[in-house]
Amino acid sequence: MSWGLDNLPYGVFSRGGEPPRVGVRYGEHILDLTASLHDEVFATGSLNPFMARGSTAWRETRALIQTKLRDDRSVTQEHLIPLDQVRLHLPFEVADYVDFYCSLEHASNLGRMFRPDEEPLKPNWRHLPVGYHGRAGTVVVSGTPVTRPHGQRGAGVFGPSAKLDIEAELGFVIGTPTALGERAGSFEDHVFGVTLVNDWSARDIQAWEYVPLGPFLGKSFATSVSPWVTPLAALPRVPGREQDPEPLDYLRRSADWGLDIEFEVTLNGDVVSRPPYSGMYWTPDQMLAHLTVNGASLRTGDLFASGTVSGAQPGQRGSLIELTWNGTEPIKLSSGETRTFLENGDTVTISARAGDISLGEVTGTVQ
Ligand code: CA
Repeated sequence: MSWGLDNLPYGVFSRGGEPPRVGVRYGEHILDLTASLHDEVFATGSLNPFMARGSTAWRETRALIQTKLRDDRSVTQEHLIPLDQVRLHLPFEVADYVDFYCSLEHASNLGRMFRPDEEPLKPNWRHLPVGYHGRAGTVVVSGTPVTRPHGQRGAGVFGPSAKLDIEAELGFVIGTPTALGERAGSFEDHVFGVTLVNDWSARDIQAWEYVPLGPFLGKSFATSVSPWVTPLAALPRVPGREQDPEPLDYLRRSADWGLDIEFEVTLNGDVVSRPPYSGMYWTPDQMLAHLTVNGASLRTGDLFASGTVSGAQPGQRGSLIELTWNGTEPIKLSSGETRTFLENGDTVTISARAGDISLGEVTGTVQ
């Protein structure tokens, strides 16, 4: 079952005029945790206070919820609210947002398109997980409309982006903080869970502005996340992809943090891509180690995303610029229309699953 006892993702919901509070999805219902666990930490409109309690509390709470849902008759209809009666909110207060670039295929494809005369991968790429600091304040929950950004598209050229794109990514949510100067400890002690991310990207603005400091306004206008945060404990793990050269000691993998997650990207209802997460080059424990190796602190609610998930096959690319090979081969939709980049009114939905575990979806419509 996609939303059974082995899944139980967390979200923030409200019903009618009631204030938002934390719940757990179970089937087509949401379990109201404030009412069923009698714990005020869930009465706030954000997962942050609960995430800040740390990994022991996360494990104990998950076990308690599983026991209650399985055996406890005190869980009543009053605590299990049908999803169609609630509104879902941004599940956590986003502290800092970092976006990595961990897919070898995506980085190679973009290198070929943005720098056709050079080697696709820069010399640093296989030595460290490349990333940049994004804009936490414009992370929005699934369903929020995305306004086409305006910006500079070249020397003296200003206007709405004509190359609006998506990036299908996996986001990791920090629960346990670190102090300034302290490196992160074990991955599962800091990372609470995962969420789906659509890193909306204006390719024309990006191509003009990104030299030499990297992505800026072409990315910061909106980043959408799914309403559910799936606990790490629910995800099947696989060995990470082989790496050459061997990374430095601080990036050495101590456990299998490859994740076997299948993504699906739909554009106006048509499936356009199925990117596999299992082929990602850098694993999330390596991203966390790199993010904190310089002593930068972590805060509860920090979000770091994997970068676009792209596989080796043409139908596995996680962005339109790759699917249309730099805008030269349009996508044919079942409506008879074609797309190279997004038009106003287009809806993109990214969903994912790990075996039987659904990670839900993140959707947005361009306006
Ligand atoms: Ca990205």
